[in-house]
Amino acid sequence: YAESEEAFSEYSQQIYDCLNEYHQLYNIYNDYEGVNNIKTINDNAGIAPVKVDRKIIELLLFSKEKYELTNGKVNVAFGAVLSLWHEHRQAGLDDPENATLPDFEELTLRAQHTDINKLIIDEGASTVYLEDPEMSLDVGAIAKCYAVEKTALEMEKAGFKNGMISVGGNVRTIGSKFDDQGNEAPWNVGIQNPDLESEQKTIHVLNLTDYSLVTSGIYERNYTVNGEIYHHIIDPETLMPAKYFVSVTIACQDSGLADALSTALFNMPFEDGLELIESLDGVEAMWIPYDGPYKYSSGFQELIKDYQN
Ligand code: ADP
Ligand code: MG
Repeated sequence: YAESEEAFSEYSQQIYDCLNEYHQLYNIYNDYEGVNNIKTINDNAGIAPVKVDRKIIELLLFSKEKYELTNGKVNVAFGAVLSLWHEHRQAGLDDPENATLPDFEELTLRAQHTDINKLIIDEGASTVYLEDPEMSLDVGAIAKCYAVEKTALEMEKAGFKNGMISVGGNVRTIGSKFDDQGNEAPWNVGIQNPDLESEQKTIHVLNLTDYSLVTSGIYERNYTVNGEIYHHIIDPETLMPAKYFVSVTIACQDSGLADALSTALFNMPFEDGLELIESLDGVEAMWIPYDGPYKYSSGFQELIKDYQN
């Protein structure tokens, strides 16, 4: 929402520019001229500390914190393992007939190079160094929604009070929306039905004001080997796609936290995830298991539109 179409276009452009800057900084696949990004850090593993923008330092400090909070279930230093899965998935999508799984020995070898304590952040010098030459960062589980969070906060400061940013199915609402009568009302955001073939596209519609909604699911990115589906969230314990749930959804204000938690909870049994969520203020979760009823943290259902208890 904006006062005029002109103001709206200006806000949109600002949002785009802001997200684009993060996109370049947090990229692990591409180089950008004059920019030291996460790829630059990876390229310099075991060689030299890389001077980076404060926005990278902050993302990595945030990611280390979330590693501690989740007992290592979301690890941005997991790149050595994730990149092997990524290569096999890409090759498998390009040539489905000949799709292959990563070699388990190779996964095990690479897993020895995923120690987040070897990610050295020097805040004073504004540098980042990977001590282990074989390690690499993959910020895919956190960076997208972390960037959205920072963008939302920046836009609020710039005067954008009511809006919604949706990036790849993950949503951050800013303030409220306005209903037909012009009164402030919560945004309505749906949770995707993991059964993509079903006529029912959403499982629940939530009422969200200033809240984020982030889902990790097996249907987002995957490939098929010998008739079996292999998705993109890798359990650090088994080094294989996590087998606990079809999807996990997090609702809370901070979209970066929601993203980190959605991946982490996807990699742990329900009981562990529930305990973690209940220990955090203003964070709710919903789990969709392979069998049986959906599961909810204690305050989740209150977010559901028209929910009656
Ligand atoms: P998406 O970004 O696809 O919505 P996620 O937030 O769950 O879903 O992030 C998935 C991405 O996170 C993967 O593509 C991969 O880059 C990365 N990833 C997968 N498993 C882990 C893990 N155990 N720890 C950290 N990052 C992971
Ligand atoms: Mg995530």
